[in-house]
Amino acid sequence: MTSLESLALARGTVDRVTHRRNNTQWLDAAWADPRTRVLVVSDGRALVRFDDDEHVELVFSAPAEAPAGVRFLLGQDADGVVYFGVSGDLPAAAPAAAAGTVRAAWLREVGAMLGDRDAGLFTHAVALANWHDTHTHCPLDGTPTIPDPGGHSTRCPVDGTEHFPRTDPAVIMLVTDPDDRCLLARNAAWPGRRVSILAGFVEPGESAEQAVIREVAEETQIKVTNVRYVGSQPWPMPRSLMLGFRAEAPAGQAIAVDREEIAEAHWFSRDELLAAIQAREIALPPPVSIARHIIEDWFGGPLPSTWPETLAPRPS
Ligand SMILES: [Zn+2]
Repeated sequence: MTSLESLALARGTVDRVTHRRNNTQWLDAAWADPRTRVLVVSDGRALVRFDDDEHVELVFSAPAEAPAGVRFLLGQDADGVVYFGVSGDLPAAAPAAAAGTVRAAWLREVGAMLGDRDAGLFTHAVALANWHDTHTHCPLDGTPTIPDPGGHSTRCPVDGTEHFPRTDPAVIMLVTDPDDRCLLARNAAWPGRRVSILAGFVEPGESAEQAVIREVAEETQIKVTNVRYVGSQPWPMPRSLMLGFRAEAPAGQAIAVDREEIAEAHWFSRDELLAAIQAREIALPPPVSIARHIIEDWFGGPLPSTWPETLAPRPS
């Protein structure tokens, strides 16, 4: 019954051309092509142009202008233009004669404002840059690893082991009770009014559905059934894949939060949720999040935005 469309970070128009990643001749020719565009990522941020009419787009560098750093192939568009990412220092100056304001921005800040092409490129580039930045040595013997030509894996020059980007699966779930009210909780680490649906990481040796049941029980003591998948989007901050679910809570259960991870949790009818948002008693996650989409899918339409758009990254 449920499907999620237009998730902010699950978009993209550029073909990843995975068969090119180990073709050094092709990669070198692409890097020498002046049409090629490079997205520089530095600690999760890239240069973004904000036009006066609120049009938002990525600012690319030419290969010759790209900083030193690990290079990785992002893909090729329908016009044959090749895109690379580089993890390195952001170019200092905005390109001359460009309209609007150019500044460094986080993916979580602009992911929902970018077009499909740029949202996909930024998400892909941040995920790979985060991995390269934090996985620089062989886990077996500590030797510095060498990226493959396309930058999508690394190899240890001593023992020859190959290493691939890591993605951590996390489940995020909207739980409803027999009156079709939804369960929203406030994480103890979040600022005052923010609430969301429950979420947690999938543990080793566990299915996503098992993780949904376990996390809801751990955080609220509610036992759920009818767990069903509704959609996913990458959340490379630093390396998650968010797997969205719906689940049902049979009648006769009381919420009990641990007060360490979850400060409070409550059932909301649609009318109660809308009234609480309009009264500014609570704030929902921003549109870039899958949580927002799952909540609005249950609600039946868009909900007012009250979340302040100062989205500094949280360590998580
Ligand atoms: Zn090694």
